[in-house]
Amino acid sequence: MKQRRRRPAIAATRPLGNVAGHFTKEGGAKKRYRTPAEAKSAAQLAWTLNGVDLSAYRCEHCHQWHIGKRFRED
Ligand SMILES: [Zn+2]
Repeated sequence: MKQRRRRPAIAATRPLGNVAGHFTKEGGAKKRYRTPAEAKSAAQLAWTLNGVDLSAYRCEHCHQWHIGKRFRED
């Protein structure tokens, strides 16, 4: 029995790690901030409004800043 179609290796086309922090769970790009100060104040706001503890991190993919729960830091 031949396998005619291979499932594309998603992990290969979109490596996890640094790039994962650029996308939301839904697969869209996260909101970007141009400066760490902007990202931090957005994180602060999220904490104030929603009580969620987010951190600002620089994205290796778009070289701007995002906020989010930390991904695994390897
Ligand atoms: Zn990014």
